[in-house]
Amino acid sequence: MHPHIVPDKFAREGMMFPSRHGRNFRRLWTIGEERREIRLLTGANGRDLMTLNRRTFLGTATAASVALSAPMALGQAKPRVVVIGGGSGGGTVARYIAKDSDGAVDVTLIEPSRKYYTCYFSNLYLGGFWEFDALGHDYGNIARLGVNVVHDWAVGVDRDAQTVALASGESISYDRLVVAPGIDFVEGSVPGWDVSQQSLMPHAYKSGTQAQLLKHQIENMREGGTFCMVAPPNPYRCPPGPGERVSMVAHVLSQINPTAKILIVDPKENYSKQALFEEGWERHYSGMVTRIGPDFGGDRVEVRPDAMEVVIDGVVEAVDVCNVIPAQKAGKIAELAGLTNDSGWAPVFPSDMRSRMDENVFVLGDASAQGAMPKSGFSANSQAKVVANVIRGELTGSRIFPARYSNTCWSLIATDDGVKVGANYEAGDDQIESVSSFISQTGEDDELRRQTYEESIGWYNGIVADIFG
Ligand SMILES: Cc1cc2nc3c(=O)[nH]c(=O)nc-3n(C[C@H](O)[C@H](O)[C@H](O)COP(=O)(O)OP(=O)(O)OC[C@H]3O[C@@H](n4cnc5c(N)ncnc54)[C@H](O)[C@@H]3O)c2cc1C
Repeated sequence: MHPHIVPDKFAREGMMFPSRHGRNFRRLWTIGEERREIRLLTGANGRDLMTLNRRTFLGTATAASVALSAPMALGQAKPRVVVIGGGSGGGTVARYIAKDSDGAVDVTLIEPSRKYYTCYFSNLYLGGFWEFDALGHDYGNIARLGVNVVHDWAVGVDRDAQTVALASGESISYDRLVVAPGIDFVEGSVPGWDVSQQSLMPHAYKSGTQAQLLKHQIENMREGGTFCMVAPPNPYRCPPGPGERVSMVAHVLSQINPTAKILIVDPKENYSKQALFEEGWERHYSGMVTRIGPDFGGDRVEVRPDAMEVVIDGVVEAVDVCNVIPAQKAGKIAELAGLTNDSGWAPVFPSDMRSRMDENVFVLGDASAQGAMPKSGFSANSQAKVVANVIRGELTGSRIFPARYSNTCWSLIATDDGVKVGANYEAGDDQIESVSSFISQTGEDDELRRQTYEESIGWYNGIVADIFG
């Protein structure tokens, strides 16, 4: 299976889309290159398949192709795990399997981007609390652990042959596959908008430079202008993300453009941390934020990017900046691999995130349909550790522990005004279920809110270290 690629579907700002007709071999090792070459040029039982120096290797597409497929052909010495997607879930699972198996498992991580920019704290970047560069993390430490980091797109999965096809034309075989591609947008979910309009009306809801574009638009909005957010329907990544974004935009506008207005158009009856956000907006940004829910047409919205208009239940509103966050589904490769159902998400078993479509495949993070856990970086990281433990156990005989999952989502409303929501989870009969939960309360004192914000910074530093080393 090697499906036709539509570049638009995969193209993302700040990323190079590899041409299938150009240079065949565009995999670039971030670091530890000598070591990676040796691994790839070593066949079963550690025998050298060929001796090439680096220049020959990088310049010889055919040789590289042979090196990639040869271990399976010769019978492999080590079990092979391939991970698609080097984000919160994929980065963690690759790192943990490599770290804990101590070389006993061959791990390949496929990720097109050389640097992953976290969506978490991208709202704080919009608000002026965080630097853009501080959102970026590379794969150097993951590669140093012995993971083959392949910077390319996975474009298909042949589940019978247990191989993953890359955009470069290469194919990589696996014993276990982990699919963690995050989200894609549902086409047509906001009439008038598609990804070709993302420069005029940014989503800023995937890793990359969209957040920079949105920040630029907000900071250059006309005096007294209107920032509009078209909020997504459930389920979507980071349930409190839109509310936090509104808070951070309000924070900036209250400083540089205090007569500006914020309009939220929302198809949902209610949303995560609603009482906390509404209290905070009233306290810090009184009169600036208006929300139109489904009662007043928030679920009947069309956008006109060229005219900078939003049509709400037939009424035309002129806006100055428009942040469209469309409906979401699993990253395209999950669908191409036949792992999704009619919901657009990939159903998994709650005890180990194993795909309900294929026992050799695990889906984790946003792409999975697992039950009660919100789609978040924290959740993806938590699920990834369960998957790493299970895969290592199956491939090396190490002990497998019962799954326990957890999540906390922090949000910043204004300077030093942090709130959080979280829960612990276990595998139920059919899906992952919440077993205990907590949420910040309205009316909390300033010191507690400041501590909650400090806690979120500690969490950020901890999770990126846990994912990227
Ligand atoms: C504004 C905003 C704020 C957020 N704040 C928080 C927060 O405070 N806390 C929190 O926990 N979460 C937060 N999140 C959510 C969090 O970013 C995601 O839930 C999390 O990143 C999901 O992890 P993932 O591994 O499933 O996907 P991702 O982290 O998106 O990683 C997917 C990776 O797969 C790669 N990929 C996709 N397709 C392919 C392919 N075909 N081949 C190879 N690679 C591919 C992508 O390049 C990407 O690097 C926020 C999200 C947003 C948008």
